[in-house]
Amino acid sequence: MATYKSPVLYDGSESIVEQFSKVERKRKCLIITDSAMNEAVGRFQSEINQEVPYELFIMNGKADEAKAKEVLAQQKMGTQLYIASTWENAKIIFPLAIEVGYSEEEIQLAVDGEKERHIYCMKCFTLSSIKDEKEVQCAQCHAHLEVGPFFSKVRKGYIGYPFIPIEE
Ligand SMILES: [Zn+2]
Repeated sequence: MATYKSPVLYDGSESIVEQFSKVERKRKCLIITDSAMNEAVGRFQSEINQEVPYELFIMNGKADEAKAKEVLAQQKMGTQLYIASTWENAKIIFPLAIEVGYSEEEIQLAVDGEKERHIYCMKCFTLSSIKDEKEVQCAQCHAHLEVGPFFSKVRKGYIGYPFIPIEE
């Protein structure tokens, strides 16, 4: 059951931040981004300039997955990881970082654009993509679902409780 304990990236992950911040006692920063023009990165670079050594890796999506893993694995202890990317690329980088041994506290993730959310239907046991709604219909079985407060790391979605809508 060990795999279920690994952190899973979701819109409520503790690694997600609005802006990058320095972490005390960290000797190095590794910044991974999918855009050389990323604002969060630019701001942070000028903030840490001269103070903390950093390495910047610009990742060209899925094509650079192996290279990104290498860069992540090369780091010494005491490295803080900063990821600035779209949700799509964060879904590639975050699990790689976890795989090579970073904890959620050692990762800050600034998402560029929208974050993805899923609901896990308790009627047909499938995942549907959702936005910020409180109630949705399952994409698979069309059951009306209330979006629960609990995120299941095993199912990779918020638990959706079926209900019968009241006819108006
Ligand atoms: Zn369903």
